[in-house]
Amino acid sequence: MRSFAQYLKPDRVYATMSVVPFAELKSMGYQFALLDLDNTIAMDHVHMPSKYTFDIVNQLKNAGFTCCIVSNAKSLRSSDFSALIPIPCVSYANKPSPSGIFRAMDLLGATKENSVLFGDQIFTDIVAAKRAGIFAVLVEPLAKKEVFYVKIKRPIERLVRFLYHF
Ligand SMILES: [Mg+2]
Repeated sequence: MRSFAQYLKPDRVYATMSVVPFAELKSMGYQFALLDLDNTIAMDHVHMPSKYTFDIVNQLKNAGFTCCIVSNAKSLRSSDFSALIPIPCVSYANKPSPSGIFRAMDLLGATKENSVLFGDQIFTDIVAAKRAGIFAVLVEPLAKKEVFYVKIKRPIERLVRFLYHF
């Protein structure tokens, strides 16, 4: 049980990105923010950044973070989205594999010690971050509206959160 928890349990949980204490994370030594796209910094499956997206990225920048999107989305949608902000992007990140996180860290010149992943899904974002060996922040999904293959995982996530107390 303990070894499973190691990969499923985030280091921190927040209601939304807008309430994450970025300055505190920065003071802990983190400086690279690897951002999931859908339902973390934007609504699910959008093509354009919203005011919310810009606000979050600005909060991160003001706290001293360098940002990069790490998304499983098709390359065109996530790269077009990130180009509009603009911040770098790793598409087809293949989470829960850690490969996309390693690609992002290479791109930014980041290390395991100074990178944080922010995401809304345990079985993709958090598992990928933990397999990569980096600090993981779970946020509640921004909207209830999401694609079916994400929706079906939510009850299992609730069970995991009940079992592991987060
Ligand atoms: Mg997501």
